[in-house]
Amino acid sequence: MSSLLLLDPASRPAPAFLQGGPKKLLIDGAWVPAQSGKTLETVDPTTEQVLTSVALAGYEDVDLAVAAARRAFEDPSWSAITPHRRSRILLQIADVMEANAQELATLDSLDMGGTIGLTRWMIDHSVDVIRHYAGWPTKHYGRTAPSDPSQFSYTLRQPLGVVAGITAWNGPLLQAAWKLGPALATGNTLILKPAQTSPLSVLRLGELLEETDLPRGVVNIITGDGRTAGEAVITHPGVNKVSFTGSTAVGKHILESSTGNLKRVTLELGGKSPNIIFADADLKAAAVASATGFLAGAGQGCVAGTRIFVEESVREEFAGLLREEMATWTVGDPFHPGTRMGPLASRQHFERVSSYFDIAREEGATVRVGGELEGNTGLFVSPTLIDDVTNDMRVAQEEIFGPVAALMSFSDEAEVIRAANDTEYGLASAVWTKDLARAHRVAAALEAGTVWVNTYGDMSAGILPFGGFKQSGIGREHGMDGLDAFTETKTVMVQF
Ligand code: NAD
Repeated sequence: MSSLLLLDPASRPAPAFLQGGPKKLLIDGAWVPAQSGKTLETVDPTTEQVLTSVALAGYEDVDLAVAAARRAFEDPSWSAITPHRRSRILLQIADVMEANAQELATLDSLDMGGTIGLTRWMIDHSVDVIRHYAGWPTKHYGRTAPSDPSQFSYTLRQPLGVVAGITAWNGPLLQAAWKLGPALATGNTLILKPAQTSPLSVLRLGELLEETDLPRGVVNIITGDGRTAGEAVITHPGVNKVSFTGSTAVGKHILESSTGNLKRVTLELGGKSPNIIFADADLKAAAVASATGFLAGAGQGCVAGTRIFVEESVREEFAGLLREEMATWTVGDPFHPGTRMGPLASRQHFERVSSYFDIAREEGATVRVGGELEGNTGLFVSPTLIDDVTNDMRVAQEEIFGPVAALMSFSDEAEVIRAANDTEYGLASAVWTKDLARAHRVAAALEAGTVWVNTYGDMSAGILPFGGFKQSGIGREHGMDGLDAFTETKTVMVQF
């Protein structure tokens, strides 16, 4: 087991944003405490020290936020502005994010443990996403329709109203940007509810929005846990849509809770993504990308390629290359320049991930690399490869959400497609081969919202649709599908 790369506590960043008492809620352009006065601590998973505390919002706070968002939605300062002006406001938001990117990345690394390289990539990606959506207000057309000569018929794309964006802890600002961009580009108003584990960068974004021309109340920020703040958002009759990123279990609950006022719901949920390596692939490139595919973010990625299927004839060669690559994934403080993988985001999650090593052994699998816990402080787990796995084992079926992959082999294409699809999830997948026809055949056959060919994990920053088949979600973010999901289509028929 390699040693942890740790830093002297005095040399770790201490952003000024963390000073000055509990963080408040952003409602109607003002920072206010929760009406109950309650707060929640947020903890640095590297040191397990409290960073600061944030307001624990309840129904009464959400109610105020929804009322503010509704007023802002109806106010001409937002509803009646020109498409070009809406574009310019989105560009201003991207600009303030870019100007403060290092601080936002630092807050994410402190709050959820991602390496500063990863969190900086996530902020830069978020800036690209917002700029992508800044182009849409001037281009998102309705359609004209063929009609009787005495009539003229067309469709309008209109905003839904008050939209809630509820997000997970692994990409705090990134996931918020994925909601904010399309929601504002289409003229909605927004309530953001970041995860209780990592709310800080979204709160800082709320401050930065004050430097733009965004009218007050268009974006509101509610913090707190799922049971209190989240539940208030998903049950509120004034919320027209919930755009959710998180676990499949909570996603199902949100769908059930949406029936009161038939909220529109889009769900970006979990995954257990297959990564298929055929014998003719560039095995070295596949090993490098496969390691990144399940170790980036300490495996806390919805698209993590955690089921690696390798063709039997190259199994040993590929496994050797993969182990070699995994050894380069140094573990430690997210701010240490040598660290490739930080801690897991919370103690509860650390204990859950760690429990899978025993589960794997009890099921008869072999923990070949990693599996031991790194160090005595912080929530660190070694890069772990589990061998002798069959696809029906829990380690091959359940989302572990840590730096843990199951290695399996196959002998023909039909067999691996069957095994790859034999999961309740369907978020992402990859196929590695030099055979072009096979690449397209397998891509068509995989039941997943994204298929990568000879690469893993690439993201298009808003251009291409992203989402899941089966229990990995409902609907798509990004692309035209994602934009349409923030609007209603209205049909207008005019009789001359
Ligand atoms: P989670 O479902 O526990 O929490 C996500 C969010 O939902 C948090 O903000 C939480 O406070 C809120 N929440 C929890 N219970 C709620 C309730 N009853 N009502 C309303 N809101 C509630 O997920 P997590 O543990 O934060 O994140 C990990 C999960 O997210 C994994 O399954 C991962 O695959 C998934 N994820 C998916 C994507 C994607 O785009 N498909 C991206 C990132 C993460």
